[in-house]
Amino acid sequence: MADSGQREWRVDTLLGHAGRDLEPRGGHAVNPPVVRASTIVFDSLADWADALPRRMEPDFLQYGRFGTPTHFALNDAIAKLEGAHAALALPSGLAAIVATYLAFLGPGDHALVADTVYAPNRNACTGLLARIGVETSFYDPGVGAGIAGLIRPNTRLIFLEAPGSLTFEMQDVPAIAEAARARGVVTAIDNTWATPLYFRPLEAGVDVSLMAGTKYIVGHSDAMLGTIATGEAHYERLKKTIHELGYAVGPDDAWLALRGLRTLSVRLARHHENGLRLAEWLAGRAEVARVFHPALPGDPGHALWKRDFSGACGLFGIELRPVPEAAVAAFVDGLELFGLGASWGGYESLVLPTRPDKLRSAVPWDGRGPTLRFHAGLEDPADLIADLEAGLARLRAAAA
Ligand SMILES: *Cc1c(COP(=O)(O)O)cnc(C)c1O
Repeated sequence: MADSGQREWRVDTLLGHAGRDLEPRGGHAVNPPVVRASTIVFDSLADWADALPRRMEPDFLQYGRFGTPTHFALNDAIAKLEGAHAALALPSGLAAIVATYLAFLGPGDHALVADTVYAPNRNACTGLLARIGVETSFYDPGVGAGIAGLIRPNTRLIFLEAPGSLTFEMQDVPAIAEAARARGVVTAIDNTWATPLYFRPLEAGVDVSLMAGTKYIVGHSDAMLGTIATGEAHYERLKKTIHELGYAVGPDDAWLALRGLRTLSVRLARHHENGLRLAEWLAGRAEVARVFHPALPGDPGHALWKRDFSGACGLFGIELRPVPEAAVAAFVDGLELFGLGASWGGYESLVLPTRPDKLRSAVPWDGRGPTLRFHAGLEDPADLIADLEAGLARLRAAAA
């Protein structure tokens, strides 16, 4: 539209039009601005007609729901970290999982999903996917190349998560990806635990790499976000599905994720160190039956972790020796430095009771004692261990 120039607008017009074309002179800020937008305006009918089909392009500004430059900056950074053609931000990690399912699966199709996936992922399979006529088989995460024997003529998608949620079983990701590719089946992985800093799924042959950005990307427990990264072959299909679902991420949340990325590497290194310190300490305690942490040399998944991953985050699990529920409560309720709550990946330590026995069908849970999940935050590990030590003393006293 034509430039208003220096016309003398009346107040109500001025309120709507003043101060919208400020181009600062001088240098520029370190960080990109938060660009909030629904409507994007164009100069002419010809520009508008040109813009409509271009909204699928990763950095084309056409309407707020398809992203603004704040989102494009985040998507570009994630794509580069993942070694992907492009990446897309979603309103949550679960939204990224569901969008991936709906992009590749329809009525009559079959999906193979690791038995150890994040619980709401499992619920999406047995709920939403079942309702639209998609059949899911949960497979043993240890299946490796044997996945080939589970692929049916109508299998369209294989979903992986390594290590698994709550119990941290590793998967032979390259072997599964290769078997899937040989049969023309798309693979997707939930890589929230490792992030592309410690494991690069696309290089391992996986087609779609997802993260709950809510966790380490945002990193401060103050925003919800999901990410999907993929190669050229599947990008259009994923982006179209996300549009059809109407997903949009608030630009402030995209900006928080972008800020989180700046310190991801140093935070993860400390989470790795603290997580291992706590896991090793807990492994030496008589009250603990097992520690689930693939970076521990005795862990069943250690060889795969060592072969494919270059680090670990702060999240791991334990199984206590059988004790009454009241003893677990005495341990957990009195912890001073471990918050009790869902999610993880922030700077703070967390603890959560888990029930893997309720979330397994391919490989029934073999544990006998109560299980807990820990997130090692960025605190001094000596303080965290002292807190755990006092907790285990309370547990022993309550169990006696
Ligand atoms: C938390 C989590 C999700 C879901 O992320 P939200 O942003 O909470 O929806 C997905 N996968 C894993 C492994 C998670 O831990």
